[in-house]
Amino acid sequence: MITLEVRGCQPVSPGFARVTLGGPGIRDLAPGGADQAVRLFFLREGQSELRMPTASNERWMAQVLLMPKASRPWVRNLTIRSLRPAERELDIEFALHGGSPMTSWVRRVRPGDPAGVFALGSMHRPPEHARGHVLVGDESALPAILAILDSDPNPPPTEVFVEVATARDIRPLSTPPGVRVHWLSRDGESVRPGVRALEAVRGAELPAGPLYAWVAGESRLATTVRRHLVGDRGVPKRDVTFCGYWRLGRSAPG
Ligand SMILES: Cc1cc2nc3c(=O)[nH]c(=O)nc-3n(C[C@H](O)[C@H](O)[C@H](O)COP(=O)(O)OP(=O)(O)OC[C@H]3O[C@@H](n4cnc5c(N)ncnc54)[C@H](O)[C@@H]3O)c2cc1C
Repeated sequence: MITLEVRGCQPVSPGFARVTLGGPGIRDLAPGGADQAVRLFFLREGQSELRMPTASNERWMAQVLLMPKASRPWVRNLTIRSLRPAERELDIEFALHGGSPMTSWVRRVRPGDPAGVFALGSMHRPPEHARGHVLVGDESALPAILAILDSDPNPPPTEVFVEVATARDIRPLSTPPGVRVHWLSRDGESVRPGVRALEAVRGAELPAGPLYAWVAGESRLATTVRRHLVGDRGVPKRDVTFCGYWRLGRSAPG
């Protein structure tokens, strides 16, 4: 359990903001893989003091839930977009949406505000035998996809499918040869998040195999893309990493 402070918050595009956290506690955060995630603890509206759980094992959630709501922090899963141990800083990129607890915190955050992290592991583990990679995600997974792309300057042929809420969230990326990024946007259409990315993967020509795929985002996107890759494209289950990052209509626990 590491308590840090907000160093700054910058808009990236209309739907994204980057928050920099820093402090001496960064030295206790061992780099843990391309898409390393953390539990982020942050203040509820009106709170001035961050009460962190003390258990550095899964008992922390019980500790949080036992706190009275008035002093309990919010907790959400986020990806470390970049870690700069020498500067004792890390960046997290937030996909902003509605007035959710996480989005509201990002909109009101100020330098000096406290925030806590509990390091989780990473999921991106391409096997040696993979000759092509496929990365698929919605806006919640864009920070992880960017971190994965940054981690390998010399990747095998890679097809990347990223769905964002609006075309204004599409960013220019400089990627190594062999990496093709397909941006999909919902642009105000009342289509379920993840459907555009799923359609694009279904219609795509993927690199020659053996393939490794990493899929994350709204829970149905993760499970349906995996089912398609395994059932229709013959990718072995063990070579597909998938994770439901959030669930439509449900708040994250904590
Ligand atoms: C390992 C891991 C890494 C993650 N990394 C990141 C990251 O780097 N950046 C990031 O922004 N998110 C990331 N997420 C997803 C993030 O934890 C969830 O989106 C979380 O639910 C956001 O909390 P909230 O307070 O905004 O919304 P909640 O209180 O959890 O939900 C409120 C409402 O918003 C909806 N909702 C939740 N998330 C989204 C979304 N992204 N878009 C639209 N509607 C949504 C819910 O269905 C619900 O109806 C990650 C998740 C995991 C598991």
